[in-house]
Amino acid sequence: MRLLIDNARVWDGSGAAPFPGKVLVEDNRIAAVVPQAETLADAAGAERLDAAGKFLMPGMVEGHAHLSFVDTPRGTALGELPPEDHTLMAMDAGRKLLGAGFTSAVSGAAAKIRLDVALRDAIEQGVVDGPRLLAASPELTVTGGLGDGRRLHLDLQSFGVAVDGPDEVRKMARLCLREGVDTVKLNISGDIGTESALSDVAVMTDAEVAAGVEAAHTIDRRVAAHARASAAVKRAVQHGVDIIYHCDFADEEALDMLEGVKDRIFTGPAFSLIANRLEAIRGDNTPRGRVISDRLKALYEASCGVHVEMRKRGIRILVGGDYGFADNPQGNNARDLALFVTHFGFSPSEALQAATRTGGEAMRRGHELGLVKPGYLADLLLVDGDPLADIRVLQDRKRFALIMKDGVRYRPCEGTPHVRRLH
Ligand SMILES: [Zn+2]
Repeated sequence: MRLLIDNARVWDGSGAAPFPGKVLVEDNRIAAVVPQAETLADAAGAERLDAAGKFLMPGMVEGHAHLSFVDTPRGTALGELPPEDHTLMAMDAGRKLLGAGFTSAVSGAAAKIRLDVALRDAIEQGVVDGPRLLAASPELTVTGGLGDGRRLHLDLQSFGVAVDGPDEVRKMARLCLREGVDTVKLNISGDIGTESALSDVAVMTDAEVAAGVEAAHTIDRRVAAHARASAAVKRAVQHGVDIIYHCDFADEEALDMLEGVKDRIFTGPAFSLIANRLEAIRGDNTPRGRVISDRLKALYEASCGVHVEMRKRGIRILVGGDYGFADNPQGNNARDLALFVTHFGFSPSEALQAATRTGGEAMRRGHELGLVKPGYLADLLLVDGDPLADIRVLQDRKRFALIMKDGVRYRPCEGTPHVRRLH
């Protein structure tokens, strides 16, 4: 396959200004990128796509995906889903994400141990359409922590697996690694709805975190952490966690620690869930509604403040918004870029870089993913509009004249949130 994308406005992901140019794709790689005025002898005989007036950029990377969180109102509804049905629903979420312009995804956790793994492999083999995926484990959590759906009288499953003590963490991490996950997820802090483990406490102990990290790092796989509490952020840094999500309540010392390891770690706010949930709960005047609303407001304020500061310190922040909940459904992931601009002080170019170049690095493929550059994988978006002038154009899937992943061409389907292969 040889395709010349001709006369586009090329934004290459480096942060440099866009320029009129042409891009030659050969099979699944970018073969050449040259200014429009230059002749490209290599392009002789290639199929030509007229991209006049359109914006060409790298495919986006979702940095906190939960493709098996299928928009249910409760976590325990995920536990009730049989694996067969659940797998098909995760496939559907993958197609939606690709249709939203995301050609890669770093999973933030799966709802069952093999869901991400099976989906990743099926996508890689071309059996199903979806983004390149790094598969995660379910959320390893302590008893009573975020994702422990059990009650004393009911053995309910949610999106977490409860493990207590370093031996149990190690054993479950190794089991997930045996089953093929790329990332082990640890819930170091709690969250707003988890009464015995709220957002501002670090409930997973030092020894438990260390055991999970050791299990993954021994075989060169990674650990991601749910860390809202400042103490949880510090614990994650101290024990070598690779991706530290949320960081909402990070204090000055925690920020210094993050900055000290900024070339090694990635962070991601997953802010859309907070913003959408706060919107959804407005008007709920029940006592419980008011409690949750107050906690969400505190989280919202803290997250905004901390990410303004993290951006200034040059800490790598991934686009990714915890999509997959009823009030934050799959497929709207490009909304995150706009939130980075409106809430965290990013310029549109910086938000785009977070979604492309930084995302490629987080996929552990910064040498071949996330830029429009010769030799890089042909993951490209051709956009009818200018995201640098209005970042929200990326939320309108009708604007994608072309979504290319690994040299394969897709178009968003009309009337459904899916994609179809062009050939
Ligand atoms: Zn999440």
